[in-house]
Order: sequence, then C-alpha cells, then structure tokens
Amino acid sequence: MAVMITDTCINCGACIDECPVEAIVDDEDNPTGEEIYYVYADKCVECVGYHDTPACAEACPTEGCIQWGDCGEGMTCSENRGEKGEPVIED
Ligand code: SF4
Ligand code: SF4
Repeated sequence: MAVMITDTCINCGACIDECPVEAIVDDEDNPTGEEIYYVYADKCVECVGYHDTPACAEACPTEGCIQWGDCGEGMTCSENRGEKGEPVIED
C-alpha cells in the first residue's frame, strides 16, 4: 500500500522532493487536517522500481516518523517491507 507519515513529523520538508511519484503533500495540503506531511496511499509505490528503500524515509531526519502501512491487494509493495506500524528505517 504505502508508507505513512506519523505524528512525530516535524514538517522539515526533506521528504517531499525525494518522492519519485509525487505522493507526498505538505501540512497545508494534508487532507486529514493534521498539521504534518501526508502520503497519498494510492500514489505511493514504496519506491519499487526507483530505489531499494523508500527515499522519503532515507531523507527523514526523525527516528521512525515514516512507517509501513498496509499492503493492500493490487497495490505496489516492496519485497523488503516490514509490518504495518514498523519504522521504514530502523535506527
Ligand atoms: S515510499 Fe517512495 S513512493 Fe512512497 S511516498 Fe515515500 S518516496 Fe514516495
Ligand atoms: S522528512 Fe520526515 S519530518 Fe520531514 S516533513 Fe518528511 S516526514 Fe516530516
């Protein structure tokens, strides 16, 4: 399905330009109204075909703000993905 940006996001903006499919929007465009960055799950391809690991998580300076979401039927999901709720990058 996608990765998720969680509420420890500090709105630094490091991830947004790293996404190869423009799946990330900033806090002002977050459709949930939360004041954090947001990943559109229907756009995110978990960087499959672009990078070995999600570029957004590589760029994120926080510890574990970007987590794995669900891997739904018909979605592009990484072979190396963790379970839902696990940090994409483990420190
Ligand atoms: S995992 Fe890749 S495709 Fe998904 S939001 Fe992050 S950078 Fe974009
Ligand atoms: S790089 Fe991490 S902390 Fe910065 S805006 Fe993106 S998700 Fe939030």
